[in-house]
Formats: sequence, C-alpha cells, structure tokens
Amino acid sequence: MPTCRDVIAVVGAGSVGSVTAWWLARCGARVVWLAPRTGGGEQPGSLAALGVLMGHCSRRLRGRSWRLRRTALALWRQWLPLLGPVPQQWGLTVLCHQPDEVERLQALVRQRLGEGCPLAWRTREDLLSRWPALAATDLQGGLWSPQDGQLDPAPLLTALAEATGHLGVQRWPAQVTDLKPEGRNWRLQLQASDPDCPATLLASAVVLCTGLGTGRLLAGLDPLILDPSVRLNGPMTPVLGQAAALHCPMLPPQGLPGPVVWRGVHLIPRPQHQQLWIGATVEPGHQSQDHCFEQMLRLDGTAPPWLRQAQVLCRWQGIRARPVGRPAPILATLAPGVLLTSGHYRNGILLAPATAAWTARQLGLLPPDAP
Ligand SMILES: Cc1cc2nc3c(=O)[nH]c(=O)nc-3n(C[C@H](O)[C@H](O)[C@H](O)COP(=O)(O)OP(=O)(O)OC[C@H]3O[C@@H](n4cnc5c(N)ncnc54)[C@H](O)[C@@H]3O)c2cc1C
Repeated sequence: MPTCRDVIAVVGAGSVGSVTAWWLARCGARVVWLAPRTGGGEQPGSLAALGVLMGHCSRRLRGRSWRLRRTALALWRQWLPLLGPVPQQWGLTVLCHQPDEVERLQALVRQRLGEGCPLAWRTREDLLSRWPALAATDLQGGLWSPQDGQLDPAPLLTALAEATGHLGVQRWPAQVTDLKPEGRNWRLQLQASDPDCPATLLASAVVLCTGLGTGRLLAGLDPLILDPSVRLNGPMTPVLGQAAALHCPMLPPQGLPGPVVWRGVHLIPRPQHQQLWIGATVEPGHQSQDHCFEQMLRLDGTAPPWLRQAQVLCRWQGIRARPVGRPAPILATLAPGVLLTSGHYRNGILLAPATAAWTARQLGLLPPDAP
C-alpha cells in the first residue's frame, strides 16, 4: 500500500477526475484514485452529459475560457486514440435563427480562421439543400466547426478506468471526509463500505475533482489551511439538466449533418436508425420541471414536424456544478499541494483534458513525450 510522500491522491470519478487520474499516471506520477462507487443516489454528473465538445464554435473571442477550450480540443484529438474505442463524432453545426446574429457569427469565422482554427459559415440554402430536416422559416444559416464534436460519456469513463488500471493506478472506492496537513504531506480520512479499503491515505498532493461534492468537503476543512487569497465565495450551485433519447420516424432520410445546436438545444444523431439524443435543459436547483423538458422537446415552440412527432425512448437528468461568483471552471491551488479543479458547469467533458494538463503543470510533472 503506498504511504509515502510522492503519492498523488486524485479525488472524484467524473470526467475531470477520470482524465486527471489517467493523465497524471501517464506523466509518471504514483496516483491513488479515490473514486466512490457509482449506483445508488450519487452518480457523477458526467454520466448524464451529452458529451458535446463546443470549442472552436464558442462565442468567446479571447481570455481563459477560449484558451481552455482550444487546448482541450487539441488534447482530445491526441489523447482519444490512446484510450481505445470511444464512440465519437467530429464536426458540429450551430444553427442561427436571428438575422442580427449573422454578421457577428461571420466575424467569429474570420477571427477563428486568422487563429488557424477551421470554422465556416454555411448559408441557409446550403444547409437546406443537403439537410431538409433543418427547415425553419427563420433559419439564417449556421456555423460549421469540423474540429468540434461529441463523445459518448459512459464509454469514455469506462475506457479511462481501464486505461488507468493498465498504468498501475490504484482505485479505492472511498469518499474523502477530511483532509489535514501532516508535515509536508496531507492526511485524507476515507469512508468506504468496502472493508478492504484503508481508512486514511497519506499523500504529497491532493487533487479535488469533486464537482458538487466540493462544497461539503471544503466546509469541513480548517479554514486556516486554505490560502486566503483563493476566495471561493461559498459552495457550488447546482444546475439541473434533463435529456432524452428519441425515435424520429419522420426524420428526412438525409438525417442531420452530425451533432447540431438548434436554439441552444443539442441534437445528437445516434448510430441506431432515426434515433437522436436531445438535451439539455438548464434548471437552477436540484428539482426537474416537466415544462422545461417539454419546452426543450418543442424547441421553444419552433420544432419541425419530424421532431414534434418523435417518441421519447428514455429520459435522464443530472446536476451540473456552477461556481458562485466566479467563472467556470475553478482551477486553483487551495494550499501547497492541494489543488481544486471543479465547477465545470456545462463543459466538463470538453474541458477535462485541459484541466488535467493544468494539474500536471502545477504539480511539476512533464508530459510523457517531453524531450
Ligand atoms: C444533462 C447534462 C448534459 C450535459 N452535456 C454536456 C456536454 O454536452 N458537454 C460537456 O462538456 N458537458 C456537459 N455537461 C456538463 C458535464 O456533465 C459536467 O461539467 C461534468 O460532468 C463535470 O465533471 P466532474 O468530474 O467535475 O463532476 P462529476 O461528474 O459530478 O463528478 C464528481 C465526482 O466527485 C465525487 N466526489 C464528490 N465528493 C467527493 C468526496 N468527498 N470524496 C470522494 N469523491 C467525491 C463524486 O462521487 C463524483 O465521482 C452536461 C451535464 C448535464 C447534467
């Protein structure tokens, strides 16, 4: 059992914790991954996600959010081939229905092209001639982003769990209930139903990828151990999202041009004929509302007939963690050796690799291919 000071504890088994545990191990770190079992009430929010990667088509022109998105897309392209088969689709269409948005989106295309990121404007005629399913009287055109896309979250998490296992990462099915400094290390108190799981872990560094669980964990910590310059403004706020799988017998045979963002709603073609995922609602709190689900299905009253007649095969929901009073995500050093990488809100699948790469840099780890 590793007890020595060079162990890095990665806490959390959503997309952020899974990618972080895998990447730190690839960089040569000794990782113990504290990953509570799924099932029962506490599913990682990541399993509810649609896995849409909105990087280049984001409206952010500069700043941290844009840098993280761009880095994340590039890393997914490098890292996915190392993980085995994860269902993925490349190329994303963002439809535009507002005449006064066209110019702004065309300017975005020019800006991105100037930065070497492929993005194109597709006219209404171009879109409708190829994909009649997109018909809407107010359709103006759309962004075509060939390097954005979509990953299936459940197989992604499974592939990451297998790959971390192959790298020798120990995965302990434990909740962290407390964290205290011990010399230059950190003592984690653990709680697990598995009697073989140790009750504590001594680690030289701790990475908290705990999503919504972050507030509860930090509330129990002695405030004196935290760097006072990192102001967290309280716990994360929950924002619920609902999604569904649909069967669309009236979908025109050309289908969709891959994943589509239609009035902010994601439509993701599935491998099964005429099936789509649709999502997600944005509902503050933990409680889902039926009228939000219905509004999403109807695209706010503008859904084409093939979508209005779709049959809901199954539906699900999950909770996103949104930081209070600061932009998502939080990437911060709380104390020497304690990193917080949580609060990814609506982009935790997209941003997981950029988060893991940030963590490795903070811990002084070099990528495996560094000269
Ligand atoms: C319906 C829906 C659709 C979405 N669609 C997309 C999308 O298309 N693209 C996208 O990029 N994102 C999407 N998201 C957002 C995405 O799911 C989140 O940003 C992402 O899941 C955050 O991952 P995470 O690892 O930080 O958190 P989580 O997945 O919530 O994982 C947190 C982990 O920490 C563990 N944990 C918490 N506290 C403790 C503790 N004390 N000790 C040990 N472990 C602990 C939990 O058990 C869990 O394993 C969607 C979300 C929803 C709900």
